[in-house]
Amino acid sequence: MDYEKYNDQPEFKAALHEMFTSLDDSILNDPKYAAVIERIVEPDKIITFDVKWKDDQGNIRVNKGYRIRFNNVNGVYKGGLRFHPSVNLSILKLLGFEQIFKNYLTGLPMGGAKGGSDFDPKGKSDNEVKNFCYAFMKELYPYIGVNIDVPAGDIGVGGREIRYLYEAYKEYSGKSDCSLTGKPLDLGGSLCRTEATGYGVTYFARGALKTYKDTNFKGKKVIVSGSGNVALYCLKKVTEYGGTVIAMNDSNNTIYAPNGIDFETMRALKEDRRGRIKEYKDLVNDEVTVLDRKDIWSIKCDLAFPCATQFELDIEDAKKLIANGCIGVFEGANMPCTLDAANLFIKNKVIYSPGKASNAGGVAVSGLEIEQYLKNEKWPFEEVDLKLKHIMKTIFKNCYDTAKELGDEYNLIKGANNFAFKGIADKMLSL
Ligand code: NDP
Repeated sequence: MDYEKYNDQPEFKAALHEMFTSLDDSILNDPKYAAVIERIVEPDKIITFDVKWKDDQGNIRVNKGYRIRFNNVNGVYKGGLRFHPSVNLSILKLLGFEQIFKNYLTGLPMGGAKGGSDFDPKGKSDNEVKNFCYAFMKELYPYIGVNIDVPAGDIGVGGREIRYLYEAYKEYSGKSDCSLTGKPLDLGGSLCRTEATGYGVTYFARGALKTYKDTNFKGKKVIVSGSGNVALYCLKKVTEYGGTVIAMNDSNNTIYAPNGIDFETMRALKEDRRGRIKEYKDLVNDEVTVLDRKDIWSIKCDLAFPCATQFELDIEDAKKLIANGCIGVFEGANMPCTLDAANLFIKNKVIYSPGKASNAGGVAVSGLEIEQYLKNEKWPFEEVDLKLKHIMKTIFKNCYDTAKELGDEYNLIKGANNFAFKGIADKMLSL
């Protein structure tokens, strides 16, 4: 695989490097897969547009909008929208490429896509966010639909943004189908979608802890980075399983709470008030230290869940975690660990799960949201949660069994990539 031509897209190049250095020789040396490799690294279509929206002062502002349809061999294009100033083609290609394999791992019929904008919802009024979402959808709506391409949320696109986006979709298209997932319940969303990614990574970790170390969450000190959707519901499920989440962060600060972080206080701070994490200290009557964002990985813990953003945990952080006795690192975010950090975990027999496997719960429940729409059904929370548990258990088993078959039991990167690449490649060859 010639990565050099992607030198101007470092994030995408990192994703390709991770995939193609982990594939087994039986795939890499098989001539029938060579042509697939060439095809699979190029998106089917890249849609780019300008988003012109009005701020509260009446000025017209412009941001870039994107939708990358990567591959639909496994079903409709499916993947979230990210609104963050760092968004560019390289990051979206990284995420879209990963999404192809993640979606295959869920066992549901979904292809890979990603999209978003360099718009920053932080610090904007509700009215400005609404104006932006309507302007974004005005450009995107002709391209999406339940049988073609179904976006969802991601960083910066939560329940509020999905509501505006879906209302705009209905207004511009005149349709009311399941062309967006992660919708609020009153707009046809699925129960358990909000919780799905955070719960899913915890279910995955539970299976891995049992299989590799014959242990569970009880009494474990846990770090969960970030404090957005994934991090919050990871905090909730880990706590329910008997773990103590002692540290979380946002893009400014880390909080260290040795007696544990209270889910409801944190949820209300982040979801209801959109506050900053350092404010948590003033909301509880307990020992809390406010540190720098990066200090999070220096805190001694048994388990770590990077749930914030890509490349937030590098090799120096990995060394600290290993020296402090951490036994498992489970990615809730997309590619939060650099590849050398991940390889160091694997070498040291720290259980390490790549995001494409362990954070697939979100897109899995998005797939279930589409299924409910198509069947005209509404499933109770417990039913969706049970299906999610089953999906995460199956993902772990497929990754683990494949890694073991390849003689590298601790290498879940190899497990996930070989299982999913072969599945997708065989489908592409059968067309
Ligand atoms: P949110 O926007 O809800 O939250 C992101 C969180 O990460 C915020 O707390 C943000 O803090 C924090 N953050 C951003 N950059 C940094 C940084 N450099 N260091 C520390 N914290 C940081 O996003 P989600 O929770 O939805 O997504 C988190 C990750 O999970 C992303 O990688 C996403 O792609 C992935 N993911 C999400 C899924 C979902 O269902 N939501 C599904 C699968 C993957 P601040 O407020 O300061 O910006």
